[in-house]
Amino acid sequence: MYHYVDTTYKNYSLACKPGCSFCCTQRIFATSIEAYYILDILTEETLNQILSIENYLRPKLTHNQILLSYKEGSEPPLEEFSETLNPCPFLTEENFCRIYERRPLMCRLTASVVSCEKGFAELPPFLFQVSTIALQLVENIDLGGLYGNILDLLKFLHQYRKGLVEEVPNYLLNTIDVDELPILPEEKELKKWVGNLYRTPVKENLTFRDLLQKLREDFRNYEALSFLKEIF
Ligand code: SF4
Repeated sequence: MYHYVDTTYKNYSLACKPGCSFCCTQRIFATSIEAYYILDILTEETLNQILSIENYLRPKLTHNQILLSYKEGSEPPLEEFSETLNPCPFLTEENFCRIYERRPLMCRLTASVVSCEKGFAELPPFLFQVSTIALQLVENIDLGGLYGNILDLLKFLHQYRKGLVEEVPNYLLNTIDVDELPILPEEKELKKWVGNLYRTPVKENLTFRDLLQKLREDFRNYEALSFLKEIF
């Protein structure tokens, strides 16, 4: 999924370049499976540093809960907003990403065709549509998982693994599965993008779509804690 999204973005002439970090703040929302992928490469020192960070924004709804609200014709609650956001703890002094290869999907999707130094960002409409679908699919993949600020997810997984917490804190949200993708019949390019992703071979002769269906069948009745007990 990450590779497919990165390849799509490479076809666009984006202003984003190494060392540019305007969007690297502590407002990064992700799924637990993405946090777990990062947790694996963090040192105890970095994890302790993350544990000491407080006061950052948290999502009120998961990406798929927001999609569902719109589908049902209701306005989702406004997300918290702040003019000043602290820098992401994974930024190096030179403004490079310390976890670049494993950075969450939200980081990969945040881009601009104009330099953010001008005070605003501009994402091509097709990439905006791709982003919405990619976030939906990543939440679908993490069935029975959690959604929240990446810092909260890392803190929770780290502490759970050490046996220091037993319950999921209420600011971490349960992921939900929304099968239907928001694609209109006339959006042929987008349909093609999803079709090619679905047909991508992933492992053991399974395509992305086969694996997604298999996940749905195998994990439908799981909830976050029972899942974590098995992986740690
Ligand atoms: S994880 Fe990396 S890319 Fe994402 S906000 Fe932090 S420094 Fe930036």
